[in-house]
Amino acid sequence: MATPLVDCSVCGKTAFYTRRYSGEVLCQSCFKESIVEKTRRTISRYGMVHHGEKVGIAVSGGKDSLSLLLVMDELRSHNGWKLVALSVDEGVRGYRDEAIAHAKSEAEELGVEHVVLSYKDLYGFSLDQALGWDGREASSCSFCGVFRRRAIDEAAAKAGVAVVATAHNLDDYVQTFMMNLLHGDVSRMGWLDPSYTDNEFPVRRVKPFMEIYEEEVALFAFAREIPFQTVSCPYMHEGLRSEVRDYLNEMEVKHPGMKNVLFRSALDVISNYKPREEKKSVPCAKCGKPSSSGLCSVCRLKEEIHQHVNLTDP
Ligand code: SF4
Ligand code: ZN
Repeated sequence: MATPLVDCSVCGKTAFYTRRYSGEVLCQSCFKESIVEKTRRTISRYGMVHHGEKVGIAVSGGKDSLSLLLVMDELRSHNGWKLVALSVDEGVRGYRDEAIAHAKSEAEELGVEHVVLSYKDLYGFSLDQALGWDGREASSCSFCGVFRRRAIDEAAAKAGVAVVATAHNLDDYVQTFMMNLLHGDVSRMGWLDPSYTDNEFPVRRVKPFMEIYEEEVALFAFAREIPFQTVSCPYMHEGLRSEVRDYLNEMEVKHPGMKNVLFRSALDVISNYKPREEKKSVPCAKCGKPSSSGLCSVCRLKEEIHQHVNLTDP
């Protein structure tokens, strides 16, 4: 990022960041304030969280989720919210422990309750064990994601919250939109509706950072000097997503604001898209949780794991 030669357009102090798509030049303090204000506006525009509500914040321990916890903490007193940090320990040796430690110390510093649930406690196996076999059809992240979403729901239930905020930013959002298009997966677009609720995951999910660029969230974490985990999960497999990310970043450099335009287009498309049929949920035959086919995705994958993995191994 080149250092801008002009001063902050709000207060006149030394410039820190130029928001190319809007032409704003901001000092460090006004930049941080702008992120809090943008988040406040997104929450209010989409009615994401109501006054006085108890909100779960999904905190993995990375820069995005720790930034979200900080911003929500700054907004909570005006909104009467009570916050609970929710973390999931998937059980990845040498990776997740550090992230959970960052989440724990930030929650402690802010005086926020912290609930941690592990795959081992919930499902009887760690992610290391669950992925220890060949021939899986789903990628490690889609496989793991099924268990993660359930774990967040369980943590939310334990904490007594009906809404969970996740740190997905505008880049995540437009990448997912593009990937659904490229996969011909239009029926999954509903997930991107800001007010979407899924039968299988009954806790309301909201994305307060969904109108903020990823680079601005990263810069916020840097400006607030948030200690976060920098190592990536060894199972992360992005495939097409990283190509889509590179392409969109190139477009943004050539045409500042293009990601914002794509975001607005995505919202338009989604608001006009009606799924062909409303799926009714039925209780899962194994665990009783809502499912679309009589066996929920968690129980289906658990069966697969039990068939392929000897879980008595440590
Ligand atoms: Fe799970 Fe993928 Fe996240 Fe690793 S990167 S914890 S495999 S979802
Ligand atoms: Zn089930």
